[in-house]
Amino acid sequence: MRQRLATPGPTEVPQRLLLAGAREIVHHRSTQMEELLHEVNSGLPPLFGTTRPVYTIASSGTGAMEAAVANCFSPGDEVLVVSNGYFGERFRDIALAYGLVPHVVESEWGTSADPERVAASYARHPEVKGVLVVHSETSTGVLNDVEAIGRLFRDTDVVVVVDAISGLLVHTMEADAWGLDVVLAASHKGFMLPPGLAFVSVSDRAWAAVERASGPHYYWSFQRLRRFYPMSSSSPAVSLVQGLSESLRLLTEEGMPAFRERHALLGQATEHALTALGFVPFVREPHRRGNVVTSALAPEGIDTSRLLKTLSNRHGVTMTGGQAHLKGKLIRVGHVGATDPLDLCAIIAAVEMSLLELGHRFSPGSGVGEVIRTHQEANA
Ligand SMILES: *Cc1c(COP(=O)(O)O)cnc(C)c1O
Repeated sequence: MRQRLATPGPTEVPQRLLLAGAREIVHHRSTQMEELLHEVNSGLPPLFGTTRPVYTIASSGTGAMEAAVANCFSPGDEVLVVSNGYFGERFRDIALAYGLVPHVVESEWGTSADPERVAASYARHPEVKGVLVVHSETSTGVLNDVEAIGRLFRDTDVVVVVDAISGLLVHTMEADAWGLDVVLAASHKGFMLPPGLAFVSVSDRAWAAVERASGPHYYWSFQRLRRFYPMSSSSPAVSLVQGLSESLRLLTEEGMPAFRERHALLGQATEHALTALGFVPFVREPHRRGNVVTSALAPEGIDTSRLLKTLSNRHGVTMTGGQAHLKGKLIRVGHVGATDPLDLCAIIAAVEMSLLELGHRFSPGSGVGEVIRTHQEANA
């Protein structure tokens, strides 16, 4: 049975990228590696909307979140943590682990963070040294307005750290223009690569904070990354970097506007398809619904853990459910990276087949029909 990933990381890896990662290993101080890193180092910054270097580290996304916290702040520093989901909570936990004092600006899961509430919290805590915020909150599918949040701190020394791990590429990112100091991404979301690489951009304001900060770090040291740049500070994940150069080529071939339009179409089509099958979109503000993953509450009487098991065991489709308190209630359909409308037809067809097997009644084909209709309308 063919296996399909409909998860928001890891994602399907196109064969071209798999093959690029299967090439012979080059040494990390060789001319070949120098050329490879040059390609990667010049390709990444425009995708972040920055003119500064973007550093590549061997790590999952969480490692980049930890690196940002470890480098920019010192134990005892107060920070604002904007949290409306699982990854916002992870930022809070990392801040606590490093001895920071987080003030959490919390909003309900499925809603977006209100920049005015962030401003109000800043007014109450004017001593904060940083703000930690998630761009696309993958646990719910919400997109936070990081441009508006960045604007609040424009004329301050507050370092704005953005987890754009799933949102980068799928949604516009203008790190420099929006005043976002540290922007994080990872290989296994929009870049369509296996997990294992993370990316970090660092602004001048963040470098000033890094120089002031006194917390311990070594492998995660931004200063060390800068010292060795454009080469890597220690053994890089060579195979993944080889894949990355091919991923950047693939992105250039499609073009970022087309890449984003494809994801917007996939987001809409998934939402329409699930609604037709009796699901209720979990994100209620349509303009804050991201295009990385579509989350929806299951129809009455459908246990999502059984649905996810049926999808996987009988149809080879891996999808995720809700995290934390949303376990058993949500399904999250990931459509980030290489997914195209035909893949989505297969994924939605598998949802329909699984629902029928679980005894849910609806007109077969009504979900897939919505994918076709949405695609047709977008291309009319
Ligand atoms: C995937 C993801 C992460 C990192 O997860 P890892 O499993 O450590 O790669 C962090 N934040 C967001 C928003 C994500 O989507």
